[in-house]
Amino acid sequence: MAIREKLESVFAGVVQRNPGEKEFHQAVREVLDSVAPALARHPEYADAKIIERICEPERQIIFRVPWADDRGEVHVNRGFRVEFNSALGPYKGGLRFHPSVYLGIIKFLGFEQIFKNALTGMPIGGGKGGSDFDPKGRSDREVMRFCQSFMTELYRHIGEHTDVPAGDIGVGGREIGFLFGQYKRITNRYESGVLTGKGLAYGGAQVRTEATGYGAVFFAEEMLRTAGESMDGKRVVVSGSGNVAIYAIEKVHQLGGTVVACSDSSGYVLDEKGIDLEVLKDLKEVRRGRISEYVQARPHATFVAGGNVWEVPCEVAIPSATQNEISAESAAALVAGGCAVVVEGANMPTTPEGVRVFEQAGVRFAPGKAANAGGVATSALEMQQNASRDSWTFEHSEQKLRTIMQDIHARCYATAEEYGMPGNYVAGANIDGFRRVADAMLAQGLI
Ligand code: GLU
Repeated sequence: MAIREKLESVFAGVVQRNPGEKEFHQAVREVLDSVAPALARHPEYADAKIIERICEPERQIIFRVPWADDRGEVHVNRGFRVEFNSALGPYKGGLRFHPSVYLGIIKFLGFEQIFKNALTGMPIGGGKGGSDFDPKGRSDREVMRFCQSFMTELYRHIGEHTDVPAGDIGVGGREIGFLFGQYKRITNRYESGVLTGKGLAYGGAQVRTEATGYGAVFFAEEMLRTAGESMDGKRVVVSGSGNVAIYAIEKVHQLGGTVVACSDSSGYVLDEKGIDLEVLKDLKEVRRGRISEYVQARPHATFVAGGNVWEVPCEVAIPSATQNEISAESAAALVAGGCAVVVEGANMPTTPEGVRVFEQAGVRFAPGKAANAGGVATSALEMQQNASRDSWTFEHSEQKLRTIMQDIHARCYATAEEYGMPGNYVAGANIDGFRRVADAMLAQGLI
C-alpha cells in the first residue's frame, strides 16, 4: 500500500477506535500529515507498525474523584491519566483541571507530549492527565480537598521511574503542593521526583515557573535571528494571562519588545505603553481576578469585553491560552495586521485552517510541541536535580533552558531542510520527534 493510503487507513482506525474525541483526531491528523516522508525513508517503521503503536496509549486510567465543598455538599468529578508512550523515559506531562476536560482532550495533550518530550532530547516519555474539576471560584481548602482526593487514586499509578505529572491549565504551584503532600502522606516516601513544578521550598527547580513562557520567547528569538532580525523593538500580542502568558510577556520585555495586549476568557486588554507585569502578576497570581480589572490600575489601557485579541495588529503573536483559539478568520486578521511570526505558547492553539492561512501568507509558524517544550524540559531538569539532591541557581537554569530551546530550534530547522521543506517548523518538529520515538521503540522490540 502506498504510504499516504496507509496513513489514511491508520487515521480511519484511530477515529473509529476513539469516537467523538475530536481534539485527539486533530492532533493525530497533524502528525500523520507530516511523517509520510520519514516513513518513506524508513520502511522498518512501517514493518514494525510504529505509527499504529504510537497512536494507541500504553495505558489509560479513568477514576472517580469525590470531594466535599466548604458547605459540606458532595461533588463527584472524573480524573484521568493517559500513559501514552514510555519509549524514551517515564511518562511525563502535566495535569489539567478545567471543566472542558474529557478523555479526548487528555489524549490529544498526551499524544502531543510524546513528540514534544522527544524533541527536548531528554529522557522523558509522554503522558497527560487531569480532571473536569473547575477550580475557578473555589476556596484554597476546596482545592486542597479536591487535590487530596485526586491523589488518593493517582498515587498508585505514578512514581519517579514510572510516571511524573506536573501542572497545566488550572494546576500551578498551589495544586502541586497539595498533590505532593498527599502523595507523601499516603506512601510515606519523600519521593521528590514524583511530581515537577514543586515549590522552591521543597524540591522545586528555579525557572520552572517561568520556563514555558521564557522558552517560547527564546524559540521566537531564534526564529528571528535566523532571518537576521531580533525581538528588540517588536510589537507583540500574547493571548491568555496565565502562567505561560505572564512569563512570555516578561521575557519579550526583557529582550526589548513590547507586548501591547493579553486576554482571558472574558475579553482582552490593550495597553499601548506595554502590559504592566507588576499589575498583571498581582491580578492573576495573587488575587486570581479577571483581566478586566487591569484597567483599574492602568486607566489609559482599554478592556474590550468579549473581544478577539487577534484583531490587535502586531508583528509577533504568541498564543498562550488554550487549544483552537486561532481560527482561519483570526489567522487572517493577524496577517492583515502585519504579523510575520507566530509562536505557540499553548498546546495546539491554532486550528488546522488557521495554520493553512499562515502557510499561504508566508508567516513563520512554530508549533507548540517545539515552541512550548521549555516547560517540560525544565521539569526534566527538576527531575535531574531531585535525583542528585542538588539545586541549581536561577542563572544556570535559565542558561540551560536557553540552550535547550536553541537546540530544539536547530533540530526542527535542520530536519525541515533535510526533508526538502526549508522553514517548515511543523514538519521539522513532527519528523524529528517521531524519529526519536520510533528508533527507541524499534530498539526495545515489540512491547
Ligand atoms: N503542561 C506542560 C506541557 O504542556 C508541562 C508538562 C510537564 O512539565 O511535565 O508541556
